[in-house]
Amino acid sequence: MPIQKTARIWHNGKFIAWDDAKLHVMSHVVNYGSSVFEGVRCYGLPSGPAIFRAAEHMQRLLDSSKIYRIDVAFTREELVQGMVDLVAGNGVWPCYIRPIVLRGYGEAGVNPFNSPTEVYICNYPWGKYLAKGDEGVDVCVSSWTRIAPNTLPAMAKSGANYMNSQLIKMEAIVNGYVEGIALDAGGYVSEGSGENLFVVRQGTLYTAPLANSVLPGITRDSVLRLAGDLKIPVVEQMIPREMLYIADEVFFTGTAAEVTPIRSVDKILVDKGTIGPITKALQKEFYGIVEGRQPDRHNWFTAVPVGAKQAVGV
Ligand code: PMP
Repeated sequence: MPIQKTARIWHNGKFIAWDDAKLHVMSHVVNYGSSVFEGVRCYGLPSGPAIFRAAEHMQRLLDSSKIYRIDVAFTREELVQGMVDLVAGNGVWPCYIRPIVLRGYGEAGVNPFNSPTEVYICNYPWGKYLAKGDEGVDVCVSSWTRIAPNTLPAMAKSGANYMNSQLIKMEAIVNGYVEGIALDAGGYVSEGSGENLFVVRQGTLYTAPLANSVLPGITRDSVLRLAGDLKIPVVEQMIPREMLYIADEVFFTGTAAEVTPIRSVDKILVDKGTIGPITKALQKEFYGIVEGRQPDRHNWFTAVPVGAKQAVGV
């Protein structure tokens, strides 16, 4: 789906027109992948627009920046406020929000220290899911290994990591699958190209620990908390590949994927290929909250005051 543009983009604390958010081709990021970013959802609750786990996303953005020794001139709270002002000012929701920190135009060499840091926040309408409704998705185990420890840090959400994700995703698509699951360098289950993974077996929910080259997903964390609320036993442990084939239930989580059930892995049906009870129970809780049918008992939302719309100018 082509990007649907909005009026403005937040750039280093000021608003600029969408079409003015341009970079020089010799910017450090273009040549060396030096960016970290976030993907955030703003939902349209009955009470108005509300950003899901805004502070956690901006904390992860600052954590990713810190790992890459990028100094960001804004606090977590200022960045959250930037998202709120942007959504209110553009008047577009529900939407996807894309904050990006990048190394801009400075020097041409690999050393990034002399290229300026630029911070952008964009938003645009987006309501897409990997799959919606009662059917799960058909996935494969990728022939590509997830980024190995001590190569590119998996805990940082950096643009460069997504070269690995693109290989996983393209291979899956050309072979007729919706998504690929990557194994880590040790051969254990890691994650999808843009999703964390959960497995259910005999009533227990399993997910890979962060040391298996997974991104510390905000949705992963939300689902772990919801499982706690529902008293579902949870184990974070290494998952062997074959567990995927004998699991009772498997599902992806992510800002884009939300909670997406998996129907088959490598053409082997997950149980009978229908959505299992634990996935259903977690979906009910998750969508109940993000669609505003249930109270926000974990305080996951930052409300966007729609009255602020007039306050934002170029
Ligand atoms: N893993 C990867 C590689 C991702 O790109 C994403 C999407 N950000 C996730 C996991 C899920 O993270 P989150 O729930 O924070 O969107």
